Amino acid sequence: MNAILRDSLKNNQAYYKEGELANYIPALAKADSKAVGISMIDIEGNSYSTGEYEKKFAIQSVSKPITLILAIMDNDIDFVFNKVGVEPTGDPFNSIIKLTGSAKPYNPMINAGAIAVTSMIKGKDNEEKFKRILNFFRKLAKNDKLKLDQEIYLSEKETGDRNRSLAYYMKDQGIIEGDVEEIVDLYFKQCSIEVTCKDIANMAAVLANQGVDPITEKRVISKKIARIVRTLMTTCGMYDKSGSFAIEVGLAAKSGVGGGIMAEVPKKFGIGVYGPALDDKGNSIVGMKILKELSQRLNLSIF
Ligand code: GLU
Repeated sequence: MNAILRDSLKNNQAYYKEGELANYIPALAKADSKAVGISMIDIEGNSYSTGEYEKKFAIQSVSKPITLILAIMDNDIDFVFNKVGVEPTGDPFNSIIKLTGSAKPYNPMINAGAIAVTSMIKGKDNEEKFKRILNFFRKLAKNDKLKLDQEIYLSEKETGDRNRSLAYYMKDQGIIEGDVEEIVDLYFKQCSIEVTCKDIANMAAVLANQGVDPITEKRVISKKIARIVRTLMTTCGMYDKSGSFAIEVGLAAKSGVGGGIMAEVPKKFGIGVYGPALDDKGNSIVGMKILKELSQRLNLSIF
């Protein structure tokens, strides 16, 4: 397995030249565009990794499915999906277009939906809410050291007016309640948590194992919630490339503009890949190529 990972890294690394670093959040543009890491963890708990799999990067939208799980556990399925839909948009992740009208975001994997989901996290104040999010991420990643990347958080806070406008409109329309600045602040923090490929592979392994931690063998997510979130990752997780990714790779996955992609192979593997150069939709270009190669070589597509 390690040899396959090394091969797929070597075969695909050069694709970074076809992508670009995210620069709408200025601190993300400081990443090394050549960096690549891969981690795969099977549901027996064996792990295989290569490249810069211990390099830290901002989780960004890979956080969306994880916070969604916590929001469903904090509330319930009907409460969450009353406010946020489950349909793909075909639009960019930060688009405002489909919010006009009822303002119910199409799904929790786009920014509007994710901000609405973050607004549902329970806690007496933002500090407690963020602590709960961070602790939940730590639990799934099996890494107590996960923490906020302060520079990315501040950079995102300074430039996040699109997200603010989505949130203010949703508040006006009754989709979210509470202080909008606090809600987006919590969302910016959630997106700025530093992770490695191994951390997101561990998170994905819990999903692949249908909610049971493969190492402790304890159930951390109900089977039903795990199924809903894996389904939404399959239909909406790769921005407006989710359809072609389903054809070419065929795995439930979620990408983030920090360069990470978390993918899961049901009852087999959690996968984390990192490569910060992005395609025009915001997906790690090298990460997608690596997942395609792994899916083909190991026959992983669920379709
Ligand atoms: N924090 C980023 C934003 O809200 C997340 C985008 C992403 O990774 O898709 O713009």
